[in-house]
Amino acid sequence: MPEQLYVGYVFDLDGTIYLGDELLPGAARVIEALRELERKVVFVSNNPTRDPEDYAQKLSRLGLEAAADDVINTVVTTTDWLAANAAEATVFPISEEPLRRALREREIHMSEDPAEIDIVIASYDRTFEYRKLQIAFDAIRGPRRARLLATNPDRFCPFPGGGGEPDAAAITAAVEVCTQTQCELHFGKPGPIMLQAIAAKLELSPEECVLTGDRMTTDIRAAQEASMASALVLTGETDAEAVADLSDDQRPDYVLERIDRLLPAEYRQGLGWGRD
Ligand SMILES: [Mg+2]
Repeated sequence: MPEQLYVGYVFDLDGTIYLGDELLPGAARVIEALRELERKVVFVSNNPTRDPEDYAQKLSRLGLEAAADDVINTVVTTTDWLAANAAEATVFPISEEPLRRALREREIHMSEDPAEIDIVIASYDRTFEYRKLQIAFDAIRGPRRARLLATNPDRFCPFPGGGGEPDAAAITAAVEVCTQTQCELHFGKPGPIMLQAIAAKLELSPEECVLTGDRMTTDIRAAQEASMASALVLTGETDAEAVADLSDDQRPDYVLERIDRLLPAEYRQGLGWGRD
């Protein structure tokens, strides 16, 4: 468990702060304590089916006050990257409404006409259908040779109690296989664009920050790639058995049974949290 306070705290959401529609034990009080201690707090998600406003509302509804500006997800990173690097491009997002809405707000041109499309964005899309795959196929294989990018690299989104849903990597793979192309870039953890967005938001150096999450392949990997400290919580995807199998260079800096153990013991005792 950490013996020091960091300046910046980066949190994954699902499996770390909440599971489904319930805050995980200790989540509200640890965030409150960090804010009292004037730490910088940011919430990060790879999920592009909601936007920061949705996340802030959900957190506030569950009892953890948050503003849209406290949240970075792949709707933000994808839209920001396109606005900065491909503002003139015509985009075909295989996505749900939140990403399309964000693209419209940034005045990024969208089209379903393969002859106009420069960039296909594969994402976590529960409205995916053969028609969309055909448009992507025609745009990438056609004379315009559209580029293939993806919101995030996750294969599935786990649900509380088991099960889950196919995530963006499944859509990306469908487009890759039929077009015989490779996705060039994604905008989620643990990729560099998401990490740069987190760093820009915090305005801190990586050594001043700790990233807490429940997934080795995205959260802990992202922290390690960014040279931030990493804390794995055992409340989501990863269990203690999986941690035991990790090699030394994969192992997170901290493994926490509960998220509120992130606060050093002296502060927890000072707040009278006891041993729970
Ligand atoms: Mg998670």
